[in-house]
Amino acid sequence: MAEIIDGKEVSQHIRKEVSEEVRKLKEETGIVPGLAAVLVGNNPASEIYVRNKRKACGEAGIYSEEYKLPEEITESDLLSLIKKLNEDEKIHGILVQLPLPKHINEAKILRAVSPSKDIDGFHPENVGYLVEGNPRFIPCTPHGIIKLLDYYKIEIQGKEAVVVGRSNIVGKPVSLLLLHRHATVTICHSRTKPLEDVTRRADILVAAMGRANFITGDMVKEGVVVIDVGINRNPDGKLTGDVDFEKVKEKASYITPVPGGVGPMTIAMLLWNTWSSARGSKDS
Ligand code: NDP
Repeated sequence: MAEIIDGKEVSQHIRKEVSEEVRKLKEETGIVPGLAAVLVGNNPASEIYVRNKRKACGEAGIYSEEYKLPEEITESDLLSLIKKLNEDEKIHGILVQLPLPKHINEAKILRAVSPSKDIDGFHPENVGYLVEGNPRFIPCTPHGIIKLLDYYKIEIQGKEAVVVGRSNIVGKPVSLLLLHRHATVTICHSRTKPLEDVTRRADILVAAMGRANFITGDMVKEGVVVIDVGINRNPDGKLTGDVDFEKVKEKASYITPVPGGVGPMTIAMLLWNTWSSARGSKDS
């Protein structure tokens, strides 16, 4: 039976650490880290995420601003706002909540964010640094996953890591981080055949596919460490991950629950990156 990886507990530790560092930075330099969250349209899930992120900023002593923009905003107006935030000295991190409406070119917007304020780590310049193994900002969810493994002293070096999902936000960056920590990494996607032959090889399995309860007990081997990134809503409204938790926990050595696993870590690492950006700004 698996030990449950408690993302709430680990994220609390990190948030405490960030609060302490924010306090020290202010004391020593007068700099207060600042985050601007940009939200376009009325996506209820995005509104909740942004509200939680701002609340967490407040608790960590981080200044935050929210820009709630109408669905119909033009791309050029959004670009003007980003330009203004790029130049604003109070702001060290800019977060553009995804997804954006269809008429806005997401890649163009993400590239407009100054790489030195791109605390999500989505700008191609920061992706390049990550690929090199010399990251400036590590994307928050993948960063949180590595912190969870480290907190539980789970060895990464030399292990077979299998990542299901190849998105730019989760699958690809977490694969790179595992590779940099000397795991042997396989990345799977919707055309991997047969998926279970690959997942059964995993010592560390990261499920980031967005398919409720897809990873079943017979797709994993005894003793696997399972990190479930998925956030799916059941027809009854309950949140569930990509992993069949009840069955897989019987075979795994460690497993993250949903909710309470990876989710809280994402916010903690966002605070971390905002503080780290502000700290960097004192040297530039
Ligand atoms: P995307 O939809 O961008 O990517 C999903 C990936 O899963 C794709 O690469 C896709 O393959 C792959 N996939 C889908 N179905 C299958 C399948 N049947 N077999 C194998 N691979 C499959 O999602 P994200 O990476 O943005 O998010 C993944 C999940 O993580 C979502 O549930 C999301 O809500 C959650 N999430 C959670 C966060 C947290 O803080 N806990 C943060 C970010 C995301 P292909 O490329 O071939 O289409």
